[in-house]
Amino acid sequence: MTDFATLGLSPTLLQVLAAEGYTTPTPIQAQAIPHLLTGRDLLGIAQTGTGKTAAFALPILQRLAANPRKPSRGTCRVLVLSPTRELASQIAESFRTYAGTMPLGVAVIFGGVGYKPQTDRLARGVDVLVATPGRLIDHLDQRTLDLSKTEVLVLDEADRMLDMGFIRDIRKITAKLPKERHSLFFSATMPSEVSGLVADLLHDPVRVEVTPVSTTAERIAQRVIFVETGRKRALLGDIIREEKPARTLVFTRTKHGADKVVKSLEQEGIASVAIHGNKSQNQREKALESFRSGQAPILIATDIAARGIDVDGITHVINFDLPNIPESYVHRIGRTARAGAEGVAISFCDAEERAFLRDIEKLTRQQIPATDRRIAGGESLETREATETNGRRGGGQRGGGRPPRGRSGQRAGGGGGGGLRSDQQQRGAPRADKPRDERSAGAPGRPRDDRRGGAKPAAGAGEGRGPRKGGQQPRGRSDDHRSRDGAGASASAEIGGMSFLQAPRRGG
Ligand code: AMP
Repeated sequence: MTDFATLGLSPTLLQVLAAEGYTTPTPIQAQAIPHLLTGRDLLGIAQTGTGKTAAFALPILQRLAANPRKPSRGTCRVLVLSPTRELASQIAESFRTYAGTMPLGVAVIFGGVGYKPQTDRLARGVDVLVATPGRLIDHLDQRTLDLSKTEVLVLDEADRMLDMGFIRDIRKITAKLPKERHSLFFSATMPSEVSGLVADLLHDPVRVEVTPVSTTAERIAQRVIFVETGRKRALLGDIIREEKPARTLVFTRTKHGADKVVKSLEQEGIASVAIHGNKSQNQREKALESFRSGQAPILIATDIAARGIDVDGITHVINFDLPNIPESYVHRIGRTARAGAEGVAISFCDAEERAFLRDIEKLTRQQIPATDRRIAGGESLETREATETNGRRGGGQRGGGRPPRGRSGQRAGGGGGGGLRSDQQQRGAPRADKPRDERSAGAPGRPRDDRRGGAKPAAGAGEGRGPRKGGQQPRGRSDDHRSRDGAGASASAEIGGMSFLQAPRRGG
């Protein structure tokens, strides 16, 4: 077994890792760190949860320590670009942790908060700057940041950045960097736009690939519970009371739904907090902190808000609503069973969500075991069997009369292979435009980040990733859901803005 000492890391960093309780490098760390220490550019195909932050932060810190110099005013030695505020904060936090007692200045800048503190901080010069692209460009335009002295560039979650319409911003930012630099890209998938950026921006990169989805999933005990929509809240209360999960992340489809779950749990005497795009940055950080500290062991989140959340020790992921995009399921459950731990993923599935369940099972190439829970109105397994058989035969109405729809607005699984989309179609699913909803939320004085993201179409028309016809909102499910639970236009915007990581397919 490799340990960190064999990778070439300095004694100072080894001490920090020991203090953090890291004994063995994760595969991306074992493969990337030795190359990064020699200064090679790197393309890392890995998603959050694989330990990729330490994989790039540790060699960067070693480089900075080996060549100590005070960054000039208004410059940064290392620039890390992140698609979201949450991820940016977490990366900065990781740098601070791994830096230990090294005298390094780490700063994070993103939209939705005031400029002045950021400008003041940049003026002092920064060793490691972690930023979202929109706000970074504002600082470049205002000349409060100069990238001409930057030595290292990290582009994290490159595919998400492109999905979110940041391609032009990234090119604009990288054009301001010195040609001679150390460049590191991380991406969960390799769509052609990312390959294009890699070819243009990296020099002879070493490519390191880890595929965490299937291995992570193996350590997650998954199950699905069939339940009527109106009984989901009672079921959630039952599960929390019975299983007493230590730290649970509950996913709802809409912001409105998240708030309703918090209220209904409260009525049952169960404390929880919600994090979503309607909350201010301050509220979101407070909610995350109380979840992280264990003060509030239950966090209710939407897909968008949960993106980039990096909290250790999540024991349970509960899909209060199943996602209509199957890749989101993989991403959601990957929040548990991190760093070698085991986890539980429980999905509630109402009649209208059965098509989504089938899509998820097709993507993950496994059937999620169903638990029969009649106590809160769950249907029996036999009901499922019967329903599914009908569905496969191209049969008639399922789930109480309303035909479920897939992302494409077509009946999913309704005969003639209707439920199976091609990979190309799947990739063409709604992505992009997360910034409109997420970044504008809770942002007093509306930062430029928001306008930038909101106005921008999805990137990458060439890959079938262009904006969805007729707007960004997936048809069918979101409308259904909206009318059912009364969520308003903002909820559907969030649904439309849902983005996801494309899960590697097993065996292929
Ligand atoms: P990341 O993929 O960078 O978001 O990391 C996922 C989680 O794994 C973080 O909470 C890290 O603190 C943790 N982690 C990273 N590397 C290791 C390691 N070698 N051993 C144990 N935990 C780790």
